[in-house]
Amino acid sequence: MSPGSPPRVRFAPSPTGRLHVGGARTALFNWAFARRHGGVFVLRIEDTDQERNSAASLRSILDSLRWLGLDWDEGPEKGGDAGPYFQSQRQDRYREAARRGLEEGWLYRCFCPPARVAALKEEQRAARSSAIGYDRRCRGLDRAEAERRAAAGEAHVLRFAVPAGEEIVVRDHIRGRVRFRSEEVEDWVAVRSGGMPTYNFVCALDDAAMAISHVIRGEEHLANTPKQLLLCRALGLPEPEFAHVPLILGADGRKLSKRTGDTAIEDYRAKGYPAPAMFNFLGLLGFAIDDRTDRFTPEEFVAAFDLGRINKAGAVFDLDRLHWLCGEYLRATPPAELAPRLRPWLAEAGIVGPATSEEWLERFAAAFRERLRLYGDAAVQGAFLRPGGADRPDAKATAALAAPETGRVLAAAAERLEQAEVFPPADFDSWARELASALGLGMGKVMKPLRAALSGTLGGPPVGEILGLLGRERALGRLRRAAGRLSPPSP
Ligand code: GLU
Repeated sequence: MSPGSPPRVRFAPSPTGRLHVGGARTALFNWAFARRHGGVFVLRIEDTDQERNSAASLRSILDSLRWLGLDWDEGPEKGGDAGPYFQSQRQDRYREAARRGLEEGWLYRCFCPPARVAALKEEQRAARSSAIGYDRRCRGLDRAEAERRAAAGEAHVLRFAVPAGEEIVVRDHIRGRVRFRSEEVEDWVAVRSGGMPTYNFVCALDDAAMAISHVIRGEEHLANTPKQLLLCRALGLPEPEFAHVPLILGADGRKLSKRTGDTAIEDYRAKGYPAPAMFNFLGLLGFAIDDRTDRFTPEEFVAAFDLGRINKAGAVFDLDRLHWLCGEYLRATPPAELAPRLRPWLAEAGIVGPATSEEWLERFAAAFRERLRLYGDAAVQGAFLRPGGADRPDAKATAALAAPETGRVLAAAAERLEQAEVFPPADFDSWARELASALGLGMGKVMKPLRAALSGTLGGPPVGEILGLLGRERALGRLRRAAGRLSPPSP
């Protein structure tokens, strides 16, 4: 970046699939870097592969970025001075660059049939030769002859004429200076036969045209970087700085893939992972604020973000850590804020309806938030609140209900609750102790059947809160129904 001018970074997804964890992490680092330095975050859609692009993928990528809170300053739906931001709309620029390359001689026409090039590479592999790819046979073709053959319609590609004896230094904020010699770089294809430009060609052209100062992207692209830098040099353009971020590894130490769990951000969203926890988790994949801080807000992350602190080593995707972060996040969210976020999950599970009040939802959030990790957990843990939700008690609850004193307990509890002035009793523990002593039973003998009758399980939030969520009528109904299901005492 030229001193004093704010950085310009970009995230450049191809809309050939949904946004994955690795892409989201790259986007997040770009976003944080731009926000940290008052720079510009560009979203560029690399949609040159017409066959593999899809509108659904694009939508999924944009939605996932928005869900994570990664807003872009220039790009789709935003526009900007460096547009268009879809590579499919920049074809004339690529054609013009190709024309210029041929004219200036840094591109040349190569008529070698693909089979020849493939055989050459195969030979090199078999002989463990140090030769790099294509043997540059067509580089020596007479220019006029090449033009004649092209005009006659002979199939060919455009290759980049890698200059001899140059050193290419990638200034990488994570890896330091990574040096390549031009002898290590093949005369790579810039435009395929048929006219479709390649990723390396358009990426470097667009980074230059969009004045990208820092290219922050996955480590798998490091091998492409010298090719892109040579193109910058040929065009006489400034070279960006780089940060090649480490791979994300699954728990098995191999590159993260579907094998090791969900990889698409959309899947996490659909399962009810809270977005701020996901943000926090992605931020920790290869980066740490310090050796203690494992939870942070996006603002704190931005304030601490520094490319130089990104690890070189692969980052392990630890699902347990993600779950822990989700739980911590939900626990720290005030019930009033949590309530509206839980509503769609509870509605989908038939636990609430349109008439359910905010107050009830807040009560639910307060009762359950200690026990949730994902929004989706609310639907599972709150399932007993559905109509008839305690009618089929689980094994432990069934055992508790089978105790000889259960009938007495349920009947006495129902009677007292019916008459209670305040429902649920303001001090539920004293109410329960009174009931136990009136029946001459220990607390456990009272609470277990009560809980089993009200919720069909022995887990869940405190019984007082369950009563509050059910309301008097439903609670009494459940106690009496459970009592009615008991087998009559033997004569
Ligand atoms: N479209 C490329 C990808 O998705 C972009 C790589 C880059 O950031 O240069 O991998």
